[in-house]
Amino acid sequence: MIDFRSDTVTQPTSKMRQAMANAEVGDDVYGDDPTVNRLESMAAERFGFDCALFTSSGTQANLLALMSHCDRGDEYICGQQAHNYKFEAGGAAVLGSIQPQPLTNQADGSILLSDIEAAIKPDDIHFAKTRLLSLENTIGGKVLSQHYLSDAQALAFNRRLKIHLDGARIANAAVAQQIQIGDITQYFDSVSICLSKGLCAPVGSLLLGDERFIHKARRWRKMLGGGMRQAGILAAAAEIAIDEQVERLAIDHDNAQYLAEQLNALAEFEVDIAQVQTNMLFAKVSDQLDITSLAEGLKSKGILISPSANIRFVTHADISREDIDTFIKVLKTLV
Ligand SMILES: *Cc1c(COP(=O)(O)O)cnc(C)c1O
Repeated sequence: MIDFRSDTVTQPTSKMRQAMANAEVGDDVYGDDPTVNRLESMAAERFGFDCALFTSSGTQANLLALMSHCDRGDEYICGQQAHNYKFEAGGAAVLGSIQPQPLTNQADGSILLSDIEAAIKPDDIHFAKTRLLSLENTIGGKVLSQHYLSDAQALAFNRRLKIHLDGARIANAAVAQQIQIGDITQYFDSVSICLSKGLCAPVGSLLLGDERFIHKARRWRKMLGGGMRQAGILAAAAEIAIDEQVERLAIDHDNAQYLAEQLNALAEFEVDIAQVQTNMLFAKVSDQLDITSLAEGLKSKGILISPSANIRFVTHADISREDIDTFIKVLKTLV
């Protein structure tokens, strides 16, 4: 299958499978898993935090962050398009009694600092307490500039907000700008990172923060059923993801550009190339085309897409340049 739906579909590499089979493990709820402990201290050191916590998913890492920064009746400011607002089943509200305050995302993915300022609520019994600013990088495949992050951090500091980054695809943001992941994390009190997307690990995310914050998050993780036992089996793959899969993302980014150009050459598709910055692109489809039957036709040829009027294509380790050529060839026969 050539699967353009997401980078979550990537298979673990054979080196990961080998490391998983041979991983030294213990009961991580007792703090006894040497591989998890090594992963967490390596990540904390490399990304510039006191501590790290290995979590079962990015959704869990974000929820732990929101619940550790905010108490019941607090609120967090985020984008209307933020994953931790729109795509996490309302977990912060349901499980944390935390109110989201979503704001418009600009075309570049940012939230206007003036909008953030205006949304911070005064200390008044009518209002929830604004506690946290949550950003996302990359967002919809777009990179937030370092300058913007620095300004957002200053705003948060001046208004006594904590600042969290949903960095599910932070490695893509770093590679696209030819900087280190730590150059991005430096602006945040906490960061979540997905290892099971473009980085190819089968399961797991990391949450980074200071010692008190991670201690709190560890308790919430236990409460939410995320205390895993011989989790070193998973952490072994996660270590390889961080060590060996980051630089490779540049290939995915090149392939996304290539795919965007190929699609743009067809009359039925339109991609805004300027918005293609990492491994993700959105193609508007002409009304003439029945997108559901197109998706079915592609599927019968071994190609998977998410059918919509504005199709999201994601490039990743299991899609090569030849796969893209194959896709375009098949597509031409179908449209
Ligand atoms: C995928 C994703 C998450 C959640 O990760 P899961 O591991 O799928 O729960 C969070 N934020 C962003 C921006 C994502 O793309």
